[in-house]
Amino acid sequence: NGIGQAGTLRFEESARQIAENARFIAGGVNSNFRLGMAPGPLVFERGEGAYLIDIDGNRIIDYYCGMGATVLGHTPAPVLEAARQQAEKGILFAGQTPIEYEAAKLICERVPSAERLRFGSSGSEVAQAAMRLARAATGRRTIVKFEGHYHGWFDNILWSTAPGLNAAGPEDVPTPVIGSRGQDPQAGEGLAILGWNDLAALEARLAKGDVAAVLMEPAMCNQGAIAPVPGYLEGALAACRRHGALLIFDEVITGFRLARGGAQERFGVTPDLTLMAKAIANGFPVAAIAGRADLLDLFADGVLHGGTFNAQPIAMAALVATQKLLTPAHYQRSSAHGEALQDGIRTILAEAGIKAQVAGFPLMFHVAFGLDAPAQNYRDVARSDKVAYGRFAHALLRRGVRVLERGAWFVSSEHDGAIVDATLDAVRGAVTEI
Ligand code: PLP
Repeated sequence: NGIGQAGTLRFEESARQIAENARFIAGGVNSNFRLGMAPGPLVFERGEGAYLIDIDGNRIIDYYCGMGATVLGHTPAPVLEAARQQAEKGILFAGQTPIEYEAAKLICERVPSAERLRFGSSGSEVAQAAMRLARAATGRRTIVKFEGHYHGWFDNILWSTAPGLNAAGPEDVPTPVIGSRGQDPQAGEGLAILGWNDLAALEARLAKGDVAAVLMEPAMCNQGAIAPVPGYLEGALAACRRHGALLIFDEVITGFRLARGGAQERFGVTPDLTLMAKAIANGFPVAAIAGRADLLDLFADGVLHGGTFNAQPIAMAALVATQKLLTPAHYQRSSAHGEALQDGIRTILAEAGIKAQVAGFPLMFHVAFGLDAPAQNYRDVARSDKVAYGRFAHALLRRGVRVLERGAWFVSSEHDGAIVDATLDAVRGAVTEI
């Protein structure tokens, strides 16, 4: 299928369809995050394990993995079968179902901070629920948010984040940067923007005594794939305790990917509240806010949280089936492949004399061109050579390997040894080309 060969894939049918889409769908796509990527947005016919098949007939090894959701690949048979069986029972009841109990119990057993939870449909939504809960619990307004971290597209949180972020102001206390035209500027007044991985800056801000919650990606995966520096998460939790603020981990990417119990399990730090989505149900639309029982119970005590599609039964069945496949053996096997892939990329780039950092975690990593040392925060990632990396990503795509232009790679259980080898062939070819 051309993988690893000269970059010969063509995407003319996709281009034609996107132009046609634009007659009815704004910009031809249903999320702005799908706009980027030369040679333009693609249209996919179907998925198959680690592959996507587009309408030009190209069979492409996919490292988008549904923006991190499809940790079991695109077509895990038990998940599809569970969803099909549940669908036959009916679609939406505006009531409770046995499957949502099973789903909630599984998540609470697996995620350290999760004593109780509520399900929602998207990460953006549950981030809103968490901020409301934190403000209700503390009687304070300010939410600390970090430069480069992304918690959804709503007005009150889309600040100093991708896309289009240009770092502004001092590194420890950045100047807030608005995220979109049309966004209510006043909605950002409830935020304090800080640089991440900087405990002194966090401690100083918390000391003002007005912070309801510190909201962070516990490993920064929207810009780079950056681990917290040793002691940072522990220090952040202790500082929150000292100053009466809650700690919220946004594990929408890290959940079920850095470990089954997320970054909190991997790093051994348990926050007050946790946000999950993406991989929780392998791409079915499920999100969750979980955490301390006394906090979650505020949803039954005057703090409103709603949603027609919350705990949608078909998605709940998919969640349960997904979680059953997320065994220790899954993580062991997939991680070995993810690590082999990273080692291979590192070696090929080094041999070609391309200065680059390949960093992150077995199932989610980041490749940055032009950096001398691994990135520790947004400002470091911003200094990488994004233009050259974009050329590399495009050269890979023409060889049948689809990676995000921002440098992120998501690995699923379907990315086995043969697929890693085919990917590395394509990397060799792309490196030669650029
Ligand atoms: N939080 C993080 C860390 C994310 O990466 C994302 C999406 O990429 C969100 C929240 C928003 O989730 P959703 O796109 O499901 O609204």
